[in-house]
Amino acid sequence: MAVALLVAAGRGERLGSSGPKALVALRGRPMLEWSLDVLRATCDEVVVALPEGVEPPPGTVGVRGGAERSHSVRNALAAASAGGPVLVHDAARPLLEPGTVHDVLAGLDGADAAIAAARVVDTTKRTDPGGDVVRETLDRATLWAVQTPQAFHRDVLERALAQDDAVLAAATDDASLVEALGGTVRLVPAPRTNLKVTTPEDLLLAESLLAARAAAG
Ligand code: C5P
Repeated sequence: MAVALLVAAGRGERLGSSGPKALVALRGRPMLEWSLDVLRATCDEVVVALPEGVEPPPGTVGVRGGAERSHSVRNALAAASAGGPVLVHDAARPLLEPGTVHDVLAGLDGADAAIAAARVVDTTKRTDPGGDVVRETLDRATLWAVQTPQAFHRDVLERALAQDDAVLAAATDDASLVEALGGTVRLVPAPRTNLKVTTPEDLLLAESLLAARAAAG
């Protein structure tokens, strides 16, 4: 089984919350507790990267988060016991399902990394940075929206996170750091409901999806 790194040290400014996003209440529980339920059930050990002053949840190892997301992942990996695959998950994705953890870990066979992703359903166009004029319409058949969890062989993730602080700061996921070193990253189809809570609308959506899940038993 694997070690899970749950990154929960973000500030959540786009959510309009005064406190850390991972602690925002979702159906009466701090957001991070939802994915933690699944990680506790599927992984041997869970290390949580937390904002300063926040106690780790019971049964987890807590570390202080870093300036950017990748620095939080690096801090968490340093506190994880040796060996085995490593699964990285954002606390901002509370709708994680056990099946996705199993699929991503299985996808690691023969690859350096395996990452949850869903096919892009919208037609997607590219502009210049900050621009609003279309430069290109992308071929939707080749586009995937990438999620967490992302699974790695431990040595691969260690090498990826040993890059310069500035490279780490620019990375919005861990797999891109592996890609930059020439590693093989496999996409593993995952439900679109494994959404990332970023805005207040996402929070409403997550609440109703969790309510529907509870009603379905
Ligand atoms: O900011 P973003 O939504 O991309 O954050 C994704 C995940 O990374 C969240 O779960 C957040 O708590 C975590 N994060 C972190 N440390 C940071 C920034 C973000 O643990 N410095």
